[in-house]
Order: sequence, then structure tokens, then C-alpha cells
Amino acid sequence: MREIAAREITRAVKDLAMDAAYHLGDDVIKALENGLGLESSPTGREVLEQLLKNARIAAEGKFPMCQDTGFAVVFVELGQDVHIKGGDLDEAINEGVRQGYQEAYLRKSVCHPFTRKNTGDNTPAIIHLKIVTGNRIRLTLAGKGGGSENMSRVMMLKPSDGKTGIIDYVVQRVKESGPNPCPPVIVGVGIGGTFERAALLAKEALLRNIGKASPDPELAEMEKIILERVNKLGIGPAGLGGRTTCLGVQIEMEPCHIASLPVAVNINCHAHRHKEFII
Ligand code: SF4
Repeated sequence: MREIAAREITRAVKDLAMDAAYHLGDDVIKALENGLGLESSPTGREVLEQLLKNARIAAEGKFPMCQDTGFAVVFVELGQDVHIKGGDLDEAINEGVRQGYQEAYLRKSVCHPFTRKNTGDNTPAIIHLKIVTGNRIRLTLAGKGGGSENMSRVMMLKPSDGKTGIIDYVVQRVKESGPNPCPPVIVGVGIGGTFERAALLAKEALLRNIGKASPDPELAEMEKIILERVNKLGIGPAGLGGRTTCLGVQIEMEPCHIASLPVAVNINCHAHRHKEFII
């Protein structure tokens, strides 16, 4: 059994929160550059150039890339041979979020649903825990913006809707979202499981690097078809028209009930922030 101090988890989460807010991943930068190379709309090109410039300024100056620094969604893979000492896991993570958002002056975006009173420190984090083999902890923090999260949906399709129904639903969801999720977007799709499991799969799908196709050839083909169709919608960068509506479509799938076909679409904006650390 390996012992890991709760304060190590706190430190890691704090660093991840700050890193995610400042540094757009290389995969996102590359996807934006590719989009720029293919974009024919002058306004679309201008927006993409500004997004790339914004990412550079944020990284160099250690500024948040967007005013909405997001809800801290933390995925934890906890090795079953780990014993956490000196505190509990949830509190260690929340303390890391608290310290990171405070120290870096990141906007606190979490509030009471009715009174809208801000919790003041961006906690509680959303924590997804998976127990795995081994003696390490893998922490992945995603700063999820409100605009793109609001455009996300779970739909219980009919089993007879099949692959065509799923593709049509995802494309329609992006179409209806229009400029609201701050395009160019990344589309996470969860297929199968149950109502809540599909939503989690869609969020997990967003963690895969852009451009890395699903290892399942059938899903990889669906990702390609959806991406092509979405980029023909004409929404474009910032919703001002153009080809580059979407940088990537990423699908995760699990078995579902014989009576159901759950599909979740979790849309992320161009501030596609997720960082990982292993203890
Ligand atoms: S949806 Fe994304 S880009 Fe738009 S305001 Fe929120 S965090 Fe920023």
C-alpha cells in the first residue's frame, strides 16, 4: 500500500486549475491553426486569428484565456493500492480548487441555484471517481464554461433510431446551439449506458485529444461524418459565419438497456481546458 498525503493532491489540483486557465492544449492550438488554413470567410479567419493571439497572450502573461474560468470538473483515477493520509480525497480536491482559483484571481462561477449567491471560492468541484488497479492517482481537471455547458443535452432515443438517428440528433443539437457555446466547438458524445451514464461518457469524450479518432472504427466513422456535417452548417467562428464551426467530434460508447438508446451531447467551447497530473 502506497501512502499519498492529502496535501499533495491539493497542490496538484491547484496547479492544474491555474495551468488549465492559462494554457490551451497543443491539440487545440493545432486544430485552430488547421481551421484557419481551411477557413474561407474573412470574418471567420479574423476570429480564428484573434483566438490564437488570445491563447498566446494568456500563456505568456499567465492570464485566464476567458473571463469564464469554468466549473472545476475533476476526474480521479484512484489506484486501489493507495492510502490517502492526512485528509480526505474530496476535501483535498476542493481545497486545491479553492487555492488555485483564489491565487490566480480566476473568476468564481459557482452559485446557489435559487438565490444565485456565489459560493465564493468556485467550490464544490464536480468530482468523478474511478477506482483502478495500481498505486497511483491520475487527476484530470477540466474548467467547464457555462455557455457551452448550457447547450448540452441528454436524449433517450428509440433503439430503432440507430446510428443515423444519433448522427442526426448530434448535428441538430449543434445547429440549435448556434453561436451560444462560443464556436468553434468540440463535441463530446456519449452513447449507451443509462441516462446519467451517457452524460458522463460525453464529458469524458471531451478529454481525448482533438484529432485522435476513436479506436472503434465504427465510432471513428461516425465522428468523421458528424464533423463534416457540422462544418457545413455555416455557424462559423464566434457564430459569425464560416466553415470552422467545430474542431473535433469525440464519441464514447457503452452497452445500454435493450429498451433504450441514450445519447448525450456535451459541447465545449474553444476555451477547451483540461490538464492532467499523475501522483
Ligand atoms: S463558453 Fe467557453 S469561451 Fe464562451 S464564455 Fe464560457 S468559457 Fe468562455
